[in-house]
Parts: sequence; structure tokens; C-alpha cells
Amino acid sequence: PIRVRIAPSPTGDPHVGTAYIGLLNFIYARQRGGKFVLRIEDTDRTRFVPTSEQMIFDTLRWLGLGWDEGPDVGGPYGPYRQSERTEIYRQHADLLLANGTAYRCFCTAEELDAVRKQQIAAKLPPRYPGTCRHLPKEQIEANLAANKPFVIRMAVPTEGATTFRDELRGDITFDHSTIDDQVLMKSDGFPTYHLANVVDDHLMQITDVIRAEEWISSTPKHVLLYKAFGWQLPRFWHMPLLRNIDKSKISKRKNPVSLIYYRQAGFLPEAMINFLGLMGGGMPSPSPIEIVNGAKENEIFSLDDMIARFEVPNIRLGGPVFDLTKLRWLNSEYLRALTPESFFAALRQTVLSDQYLRDISALVQTRIETLGQFGDLTSFFFRDDILPTQEVFLPKKRTLEETVAFAAEQLTVLEATDWTHEAMEPALKKLGEEKGWSVKENFMLLRAIITGSTMSPPLLESMIVFGKARSLDRVRRFLE
Ligand code: ATP
Ligand code: GLU
Repeated sequence: PIRVRIAPSPTGDPHVGTAYIGLLNFIYARQRGGKFVLRIEDTDRTRFVPTSEQMIFDTLRWLGLGWDEGPDVGGPYGPYRQSERTEIYRQHADLLLANGTAYRCFCTAEELDAVRKQQIAAKLPPRYPGTCRHLPKEQIEANLAANKPFVIRMAVPTEGATTFRDELRGDITFDHSTIDDQVLMKSDGFPTYHLANVVDDHLMQITDVIRAEEWISSTPKHVLLYKAFGWQLPRFWHMPLLRNIDKSKISKRKNPVSLIYYRQAGFLPEAMINFLGLMGGGMPSPSPIEIVNGAKENEIFSLDDMIARFEVPNIRLGGPVFDLTKLRWLNSEYLRALTPESFFAALRQTVLSDQYLRDISALVQTRIETLGQFGDLTSFFFRDDILPTQEVFLPKKRTLEETVAFAAEQLTVLEATDWTHEAMEPALKKLGEEKGWSVKENFMLLRAIITGSTMSPPLLESMIVFGKARSLDRVRRFLE
């Protein structure tokens, strides 16, 4: 039986790439009577964001991509959250230590750093020099007895090459000289992605690993691990990466990549799924009937249509372009097709939801004289795009250039902060101090960008209600 999975890491807002890869896995499973598994890869504790997992659940369900097994629904191969499986990884790392395909490395961060600097200076690729690969047994025992911290590394063969089959590309070969002795277990007792991913794909009996192209260079490491354990390989499929219009890998500097953004900005899940289904070209080629904006009639299809008609051989390896103009057009088609009642219901679920209106009203109660003024103070909450004029956003003593540069810094700071008053305020103030911008200039600029005006309800509270994804999008559009 076919078993596929997606394995997102809860490191922030759920990524459109996760939905795109999730959709392909979902279709693949549904077409073959297989199982679609959701696994949470939360072993990188430095990048862990506690709210992320729930957002992954919510947005995938919003898109209709429900899973058969996963952390919240259980299943026969659980737990499906890697942080709950550390004992399993430890046991598996011990197996590799015992059969000599892995070894303990006691090198300190300073030692590794010194080697790396030498290699960079000599224009060599940074590579672990193998210092601990052949430590005498007594030395290892002594280090362990002295409680010296260690990691476990994979003993990559020093000669030869690993070849694996990519179902979309054919054979791919990586010379072992290009593969570093990967860390498999970190000194904190958590596994790295490579070990946990391979152990879980095997134990969860995954038959097909369908993931983004950026993981191709990890695959030879995984293949070596399967061999080290003596396990059978799954099939590997690497999907082309979503691209910006300029063909660079899709990035949040050029397109919103958060699924939360698309939901909050009022894209319909059906339109989003349809759009993602166009990426990668698995659907039959469109007929030549042009309708509007270069989109074609049979580019409109539902998830069920995709399950019925999607064909793997149609997949094109050229990078699919994540074209927002096209997505907007598609969304407008879906909006137009709604009955007036369901259109109104869609508004009530998003930009006119009780929760949103209640949050906004709390911000204006003490700031208006009549209820009729509600809209005067809050229109920016109901608009997609705001472009303040220079008169509004440019501080008196600043040039346009330095103002735009400062707004870009604000964006960087805001991207990295938690979306709470306690986190945002000091982060922005610290930036202002560093760059010599007064608190007033700093917050006025941001107020202009977010609200389009110099007067508004409290700024940070407004941004919290408007949402992180949409607020960041507003700053990005200002910078464009
Ligand atoms: P980074 O900023 O570190 O490059 P990222 O943009 O790759 O991160 P992640 O959160 O690491 O974002 O990615 C989430 C998931 O989306 C991963 O499974 C990744 O493979 C996939 N993904 C990321 N970028 C793309 C893309 N351009 N096309 C398709 N999938 C992508
Ligand atoms: N945790 C990885 C991610 O963030 C999984 C990659 C894979 O599918 O192997 O996408």
C-alpha cells in the first residue's frame, strides 16, 4: 500500500511550499488508495515556534488537505511529532555506532571553528576533517567517563559515490568526496533532520518521499543512512521549486509565502488549491482557448478534478511561477461563481467576521463621537493596499532614501518578533536607538505605512488585530 507524508517543521507561519508539496502528496495517495501522513519535524529547538504547529493544522485543513495519520489524529505508527520520539532516534544512533557507520565526535565548537576558518582561507569547502573518526577505544571511554559532550556523526565513505533514482529525473550521482560527515545526533540529545527523517520514513513505512527539489542534495546522505541500517529505499520524487516572476526561488521579500496571509487577505481555499494545482504541471495541458489574463478555461478545477485527472508524467521540471496576478484572477473567478448568499457568508467568515469587527471596535470606542465615524477611523482595516503619500510618511528631517532604508529595517525587525505588544515595542525602539531615529519618527513612519494616515487607533494594537502576515505584506508593498 502506498504511504506518503509531509513533514513540515514548526518554525513560523506555514509556508505555501508546504501546501504545494502537501497537495501533491495528497493527490498521489488519494489516486492510489494510499495513506497521507502528517509528521511534525520539531527537532530544531532553536527555530521552534510554539504556535506554528496549530497553524499548520488549521491551514492544511482550510485547504481541504486532511491527513489519515498525524499528531492530532493518531495512527498505527505514532507518535507523529519528532520531539516525542527522541528515544527511538537514540536507539537507532546506537545501532550505527555499533556497526561502525557512525562515530562519536568530541570536537568543541572552537576547534571546529578554527578548522573552518583555515579551510575558508585556503578556499577549500568547509568540511569536517575526520579528527574523531578513528579515536582509539580507550580515548573514547576516557572522554565518556569525563562527561565530555559529543555529537554522533555519520562515517561517510571516503571513496566512491552514491547514486539514487529520482522518479522525475532518473539517476543522480553524488561523489562521496562532496559529502561531509553529517551530524546525526546533537549534543543536546536531539537528532538532526537527516537521522530523524530517515528513521521515521522507514518506521512509518513511507513508500514514496515526495518533497521539494531543495532536498536533492540531502538525498545521498539519506541513501547512505538507509544502507547503514540495511533498509530498503523508498522512491524519491523531487518537485520543482516555486519561483518568483524573476525565476528566483520564491521568497517572502517578493511574495507573501505565509498561508496565513492568503487566508486573512480573503483568498478562497478552492482558488488557492486550484492555483497550487497549476504549479508543476501535473494537470493535463490547457486547451488553447484564452479567456482572460492569459488564463485558460480548463485551468479551473477542483481538488476532486485533480484527483481524477492529475498525472505524474505531466509534471514539468521547469520552475513553476507563483504569479500573484494569476492567483488573484483565479480567486475572482471563484468569487464570481458564488451565490450572493455564499459570497456574503465568505465575507462574514473573514474580513467581516464577528471576531475581527469586535477587535476593531475595541480600538475605537473611546476615539469616536458618533457611531457613524467608525469607518473614518478604521477603513485601513478593510483595505488591501495602502500607499501613503510622501507628505504623510516622510519625517521632516529625513530624505526619501534614508526613510525607505529605515522602513526596510523595520520590516526585518518585525519579521523576527513575536506579534505581541511586549515583543514589538522594545524591538522597534531598539532599532530606532541603533539608527538614530526618534521614537516619534520611528512609530509615525510605521503608522503611515500601515494605516495610510498620521492619525489612527493605537498602532501596535491595530497591527495585532490586522495580523502579522498582512501587516508585513503592507510594509513590503511600501518598499516595492
Ligand atoms: P528558508 O528561509 O530557510 O529558505 P524556506 O523558505 O525554505 O526557508 P521553510 O519554512 O524551510 O521555508 O520551508 C517550508 C517548506 O516549504 C519546506 O518543506 C520546503 O521544502 C518548502 N519550500 C520552501 N520554499 C519552497 C519553494 N520555493 N517551492 C516549493 N517548496 C518550498
Ligand atoms: N522537515 C523538512 C521540511 O521542513 C522535511 C523535508 C522532507 O520532506 O524530507 O520540509
